[in-house]
Amino acid sequence: MRVKVLGSAAGGGFPQWNCACPNCSGFRDGKVKLRPRTQAQVAISSDPSHWFLLNASPDLRQQILAVPELSVTSSTLRSPISTILLTSADVDCVMGLLHLREFHPLHIYSTLSVRRILTEENSIFRVLTRSSPPVRWETLPLDRLIPLVPPSSSGAKDGFFCKAVPLLGGFPDYVSDSLKGSFPPEEAVIGLQLVHKEKRFFYGPSVPGLGEGWQRSVDESDLALLDGTFWKDDELIAAKRSRRTARDMGHLPLWGERGMLKRPFRLGKTKRVITHINNTNPVLNEDSPEHRAVREAGWEIAYDGMEFNL
Ligand SMILES: [Zn+2]
Repeated sequence: MRVKVLGSAAGGGFPQWNCACPNCSGFRDGKVKLRPRTQAQVAISSDPSHWFLLNASPDLRQQILAVPELSVTSSTLRSPISTILLTSADVDCVMGLLHLREFHPLHIYSTLSVRRILTEENSIFRVLTRSSPPVRWETLPLDRLIPLVPPSSSGAKDGFFCKAVPLLGGFPDYVSDSLKGSFPPEEAVIGLQLVHKEKRFFYGPSVPGLGEGWQRSVDESDLALLDGTFWKDDELIAAKRSRRTARDMGHLPLWGERGMLKRPFRLGKTKRVITHINNTNPVLNEDSPEHRAVREAGWEIAYDGMEFNL
């Protein structure tokens, strides 16, 4: 299984257009060691002719163009992108679907609630139905491993299986209360466990840190890309960018009591990597003590272009 990190920043990317925090200013001044990052996006494959996208970021068009493996091949005249799996209905996870609207048949896997938010309340996504055949939505059941089938392979499986792990986050603010109230809350935010032969990869760019099931899924995986949005719970309050804590926004902070770095993951098997890093997170500064603390805790820090072969 190949896992490519196409984007590693939280919503807004890094630097963020309207932010003058020490990271964003330091990047613009060129005085601090920081890499630019596009918004979180991952692509996986077990065969060069089929790539699966995990979410569809607002930066998806430029992310696809930056990766030669994702371009249309002259032999098939088709894009190798066949399937998208969504972890939530957050704008940062779904906006890129609009970049894929150019009459390309696609499979989209999500929970039933996420699908209903996009298809019933947000008519702009109906643009995807113009392709022939039109986009095919598939429901991801919770906590059950199912085979993924690329649409163009006439039913042949390419060996990928997926399990949706409920992470107990909330539905996005933009969803109406009436629709929200009719949905099972555990369908709002999921982690994806992708399985190919003996290898397992867990993707959880937004982890509220509630319940214990997600930690088991991380522990049984060979690679886990996990929520590294914020360093501290009050990071945005201190930066005067919000009145909400990291946990209020559905993100377990890295540092502090029961933070991501303190969680008792089983040591040894799983390569653990933080991604979905917010522009205010001091971890982005490669000379910072926080950056060093993440590395010393045994974690890696995702960057655009990072790749894993499992
Ligand atoms: Zn900033």
